[in-house]
Amino acid sequence: NPTISFGYLDSLNAAQLKAVRHSPQTPLQILAGPGSGKTKVLTSRIAHLILHHRLPASSICAVTFTNKAANEMKERLTKVIGKEKTAEVRMGTFHALCALFLRKYARSIGLDGNFTICDAEESKKIVAPLLKKYKDDLAAKDITLKEGTVLALISKAKAKGLSASDFLHEVQTRSHGTRDSNGLFTSSTTVNDIDLVVAEIYDNYEKTLRKNNGLDFDDLLLFGVKLFVVNPDAVKWCQHVLVDEFQDTNVTQYDLMRAIAHARCVTVVGDPDQSIYGWRSAEVGNLARMQKDFATTKQIFLEENFRSTASILKTSLAIVAQDKTRIQKSLHTSHPVGPIPVLRSFLSEQMEASFLAGEIKRIVAHMGGVLHWGDFVVLLRFNALSRTIESALQKEGIPSRVLGGHKFFERLEIKDLLAYLQMVDNPQFVPAFMRAINTPARGMGEKSVSELLARADASKLSLVDLVERIHNGTTPDIKPAVKRKIGTFVSAIRVLKTMAAENAQPSDLIRRLVELIDYEDHLRKTQPDWESRWENVQELITFASDVQSDLQDSIAIESSDTETPRDTPLRLFLQASMLSSEGDQQNKEGDNEKVTISTCHAAKGLEWPVVMVPAVEQGTFPFYRTDDVEEERRLLYVACTRAQSLLYLSYATQRKVAGETKTRDLSPFVSSVVRQNPPLFADSPSMLLDLDRKVICQVLKRSQPDPVQVTKHVAEYNKASRNRFSERGTYGDDTVLNAQIPQNTSFMNFTLARSP
Ligand code: ATP
Ligand code: MG
Repeated sequence: NPTISFGYLDSLNAAQLKAVRHSPQTPLQILAGPGSGKTKVLTSRIAHLILHHRLPASSICAVTFTNKAANEMKERLTKVIGKEKTAEVRMGTFHALCALFLRKYARSIGLDGNFTICDAEESKKIVAPLLKKYKDDLAAKDITLKEGTVLALISKAKAKGLSASDFLHEVQTRSHGTRDSNGLFTSSTTVNDIDLVVAEIYDNYEKTLRKNNGLDFDDLLLFGVKLFVVNPDAVKWCQHVLVDEFQDTNVTQYDLMRAIAHARCVTVVGDPDQSIYGWRSAEVGNLARMQKDFATTKQIFLEENFRSTASILKTSLAIVAQDKTRIQKSLHTSHPVGPIPVLRSFLSEQMEASFLAGEIKRIVAHMGGVLHWGDFVVLLRFNALSRTIESALQKEGIPSRVLGGHKFFERLEIKDLLAYLQMVDNPQFVPAFMRAINTPARGMGEKSVSELLARADASKLSLVDLVERIHNGTTPDIKPAVKRKIGTFVSAIRVLKTMAAENAQPSDLIRRLVELIDYEDHLRKTQPDWESRWENVQELITFASDVQSDLQDSIAIESSDTETPRDTPLRLFLQASMLSSEGDQQNKEGDNEKVTISTCHAAKGLEWPVVMVPAVEQGTFPFYRTDDVEEERRLLYVACTRAQSLLYLSYATQRKVAGETKTRDLSPFVSSVVRQNPPLFADSPSMLLDLDRKVICQVLKRSQPDPVQVTKHVAEYNKASRNRFSERGTYGDDTVLNAQIPQNTSFMNFTLARSP
């Protein structure tokens, strides 16, 4: 076809080209370090499968680690194969892909297509009453067991692909306990008491979920595996699977990949040095497992880093190389050396934060406008560290955004509204009913609600149907008061149901819902910060319309499938909200003009011109609660390798932790490499002279600033800094060194004169 352009192959190096052109019939592992173009190769390979090998786009499954990564891949692919074809490719996280196929083919494995995906909070609500039964028994043995722990253990079992009965069996063969007449274990000596209780709860939890027509996140994967294993047609659904960030897949995800690939067409890319999700049951051993299960697997290694300067790469590699169990590999860059990464210490976390904020300003000025706020990221070991950073940036007037910070869909106001919509879509789903029935408060006490539950159970009606009948008198009331109390509830549900049946847009459903239950008024009366919560409701409406427009394309494609019950817009919207995860927020307009604050975990796969990692301290790196120190080291490596041109590590010798000031030491991951010759770190920031500017622009493929611009920016910066300095007399750690500043030192030189 003369219209096809294979231009996407032009920019690849020889190893990358080999990987893209590798036969689609032979399983392939691409193993390579950060920034070596793994994700780029994966995207090009998808294009190649479609354009060269002529695979139908809809028969390709591309698995990414986050929805955000899927969106980025979509953008890259759109440029090569166009919007229409890109929309046909099945692209998303393992969870999203499972949801997609399960909605279509749920019936073939005994599920209803309108299942509700439940999150941790809803799962907790289901587990709470089940756990209650064991309360006395556990108390007698002096065991405290929380819902969260039970769910974490169940989730671990599911990640290994163990069903409730598998798990029970495993626990029983391990245990020597004996059961009493109630079926409870009586032996007080076994260490497995908790496991046994969890095994029994697991079983009941599953039964309850099925009754509610609900699936938790792990179920999505487990039922996905089942779907692909039992369904003879599954061979036709997918002709090639590609998995990014393969080192972070768990056993169930691996099983799923194997089931989808039918032991043939599969491409995975990964980097064992970047495996950072062991705490969520990821198994780097899946790489070896794949070589066994897919006997003809070929490996291709990429050894050229296209992302970072040579000095950043060298320092990062020195950090990860301290892991003695690691397999040595080669990774080089053709980029120039560039400024050496900075390592600084401070007396407090405030000084650290204000240094970083000041440094961002200085760099922007000294790059003469080539770098913008959006080119900077501050990477944190955990979210709680963000407060100090955010306020320091704010003080300097630097706009910032927190990536994967507050989890939007876990907010009270969002969950309230989603509960109503879940109930409309799946009346079987009890947690949604329980939340909605008293939002806003309708005076339905715990007793009345549990009576409703019991009656619904006995009459095999959903709670929604039951209250409707009570309301219109077809079923006798429990107490006359109930009928009155549920009036507005029932009529709201009725309106929404009618709208949903007519395929109303989810954004319209939400607008109508907040009117029907007078939600703004409810927030005003019950929440002190109701205004920002009401803003979030507006944001939810925006999200709903975004999903709608995204779906227009894919619905058009799905219409060729005749066997499936059509997904309603409401169902697709609910699914999108339940599957959005940490770090997934869409880039909003103006985000490119903001400094990003993110966890190291959420930064996986991404890159920024300037990366700053504060709190590189013992207790933070490694995190004091970890049981895998090497994973913590790799996490720091992942953070450092996000940087393209400048890297800053810093620590505070005193930091407030949970209200108490604690003395802190430099992280052992860094202290072990800090005394090397030539040095891996500089203790003061680079001056950013012409040569540095040239290197930075070369790495970022940006054109160099006009020297006149640089002089202008620096002059403005110096003036502003001097003013600020004389006004406040304090600027981060400058106070400490105040006495040493010679009269006529420019602020920039002064900044450089400070020593750690
Ligand atoms: P990570 O392990 O961090 O996920 P990765 O191996 O997936 O990294 P990519 O994100 O695909 O690496 O690529 C890193 C950067 O290098 C991107 O900016 C990409 O566009 C660029 N890049 C990759 N290959 C080439 C190439 N052949 N020529 C020029 N730039 C390239
Ligand atoms: Mg990548």
